[in-house]
Amino acid sequence: MANFQTHCTVAAGGSIVATAVCVQSGMADHTQGLLLISLGTLAGILPDIDSDHSIPTRLVFNVISFAVAIGSLFALLGQVNLLYLLGISLISALFVRYIAYALFAGITEHRGLFHSLPAALLFGLSTVSIGIHMLGWSLHFAWLAAAFVSGGYLLHLLLDEIYSVNFMGSTLKKSFGSALTLFTRSSWLSYLLLYAIVGAGFYLLPMPNHLI
Ligand SMILES: [Zn+2]
Repeated sequence: MANFQTHCTVAAGGSIVATAVCVQSGMADHTQGLLLISLGTLAGILPDIDSDHSIPTRLVFNVISFAVAIGSLFALLGQVNLLYLLGISLISALFVRYIAYALFAGITEHRGLFHSLPAALLFGLSTVSIGIHMLGWSLHFAWLAAAFVSGGYLLHLLLDEIYSVNFMGSTLKKSFGSALTLFTRSSWLSYLLLYAIVGAGFYLLPMPNHLI
């Protein structure tokens, strides 16, 4: 299994090259290019949020708890007194960072659902949805960003597979085949749900004209 640094480096390298192509061909401007590099690199470490206590897991939960604290501050601003407001945002941040994190770590299995092809597609589709509905991105850029997210994610899965090949003896480690999973019988219901959500996403999300 590739380590955090390797995933980061490869994802950043791949994203920079892909972004250069996009900017050169006029598909994105320089500001969008920076965003694409960040998204591709982040996506390259995202699958390992299923490994408890990994750097990506802690990073993601720190960011979410910070966002929840800020979100609750803004949502309740002017409705309750300041001390109460600070208390609520602190408690909600701590809840996400410790209780939600512990629950998440308890239900996710490393190299389970998160290390699969449909998960890569799901994160890409979520990017399209958040981009057009919440961030006001154009349809074209939202799908381009999704390609970077799914691409960075897939690069991670591919690296994990490559690292499970023992080059010295040309044998395969036990982890081979556990990263780029399409389906496992033991968690068939979860996979079925995942494919159903991905299918619905492709069906419901608007496509840029030239892709239809
Ligand atoms: Zn991994």
